Amino acid sequence: MTWSAREQLYIDGQWVSPSGTETIEVVDPSTEEVLATVPAASERDVDRAARAAARAFPAWAALSPDERCAYLDRLGEQYAAQSEKLARTITAEMGAPITQCRQVHTGIPGEVIGQTARLAREYEYTTRMGESLIVREAYGVLGAITPWNNPIYMMFLKALPAIAAGCTVVHKPAEASPLSAQLVCEILDAIELPAGVYNLVTGTGKVAGSAISRHPAVELVSFTGSTGAGAHVAADAAAGVKPVVLELGGKSANVILDDADLDRAVQAGMQSAFNNAGQMCGAWTRMVVPRARLDEVTERAVAIAEGYVVGDPRDEATTIGPIVSAAQRDSIVTYIRSGIDQGATLACGGPEPPKGLERGFYVRPTIFTEVGNAMKIAQEEIFGPVLAIIPHDGDEDAVRIANDSIYGLRGAVFSADPGRALAVAKRMRTGEVDINGYKLTIDIPFGGYKKSGYGRCQGRFGFEEFLQIKSIQL
Ligand code: NAP
Ligand code: MG
Repeated sequence: MTWSAREQLYIDGQWVSPSGTETIEVVDPSTEEVLATVPAASERDVDRAARAAARAFPAWAALSPDERCAYLDRLGEQYAAQSEKLARTITAEMGAPITQCRQVHTGIPGEVIGQTARLAREYEYTTRMGESLIVREAYGVLGAITPWNNPIYMMFLKALPAIAAGCTVVHKPAEASPLSAQLVCEILDAIELPAGVYNLVTGTGKVAGSAISRHPAVELVSFTGSTGAGAHVAADAAAGVKPVVLELGGKSANVILDDADLDRAVQAGMQSAFNNAGQMCGAWTRMVVPRARLDEVTERAVAIAEGYVVGDPRDEATTIGPIVSAAQRDSIVTYIRSGIDQGATLACGGPEPPKGLERGFYVRPTIFTEVGNAMKIAQEEIFGPVLAIIPHDGDEDAVRIANDSIYGLRGAVFSADPGRALAVAKRMRTGEVDINGYKLTIDIPFGGYKKSGYGRCQGRFGFEEFLQIKSIQL
């Protein structure tokens, strides 16, 4: 056994028994077997955690940034020692291939630790404006609610800058990925982070998540997940007049212009769309291509998809693992059928499970071409390995298609002419656009336009979400 599970919650610096008997079964999506059970926190448990966080807040906020960051330094040391175990835990609970769990799911969060500590140490908390001092100070108790698709990165983008800023945290991870959160919590316990600064309540969104959003001691909520759940969180928080940061879904467009390097554009586009079996909020799931080059693009994309190795996520050769749950798998398959029913051309993949993989929640990497942007598969977030290739008739039309979405999270433009690419990028109503490549930069602001949410995470902009602004007139 490479992972371990606690049947307790972590509140006020202790592993404690939950108040009730409700539990959550954690299922390995590659075997369909139950790996472990963890507590499903009740409203009473959340109340206990929120009150512990509120008690810990004044002393924690009163420390200097350097004193707080010393804990992040210690976390960084212990995290490195646990990273292989963490990678195996994430593979077991949500099914991402082990190689990607090492590089992406644990590797990138590892970088966030040091980066956050540097940022919090260097940040100018007090600035002068005429005769006034503008002071930025910790916001208060943060309620953090995270998804399963990139569990530790999502946890770290909230908990670490909040803790470094002087906030205290009540965290609810997704039902599908509580084991990785418990393991990181063990490390926070081992480095003797003061009691109440970080509290872990595993549980369901409906009960524990909603209780966090509504709790009067929680002063700020940061949520990453689907647009539907995000709207509930915002409504729950509204009654308490508390700000919410919402990082929600996407349906991002990869706009390929007629002078683009097709190899590069399709390669990068496939990497983005099929990364993590398509379970990425920022995935470029719509490839918007010049009509005259539709066949050429489709051929290249299919050739890349045929090279994917779908299967056991513990096998180092695997590039696409199972989908997180049976429900998500069924939803993806329903979308694939809708694409066929609405008349898109199935270029590869399809609704049947991949050959030889009867057990586990596997889906065939699927590409549709000649897709109309009004089709369901072009409008709705599928959150699986499904790409829609959509023809355009020039730059103007490509921008129109890209923006014809309720979402606006990421996107891309490929062109040999940097000026032309930039002009298109500026017209896209989305929070991030990559030009001529798929880039992962962890310190630039990340967040959505439209129904992809509001507020920003990552780097300085993400850090500032956890700070209040006080003006002192001298
Ligand atoms: P989800 O079902 O919305 O769940 C996200 C988290 O919210 C989970 O912890 C969930 O608990 C909780 N939750 C659900 N309903 C809630 C409610 N009414 N009140 C409070 N909390 C609630 O999303 P998911 O399936 O885990 O993740 C996939 C979604 O996340 C996709 O839409 C994806 O685009 C989005 N995402 C966005 C970003 C970004 O940065 N923009 C990053 C990653 C993922 P349960 O586990 O009990 O459902
Ligand atoms: Mg869910």
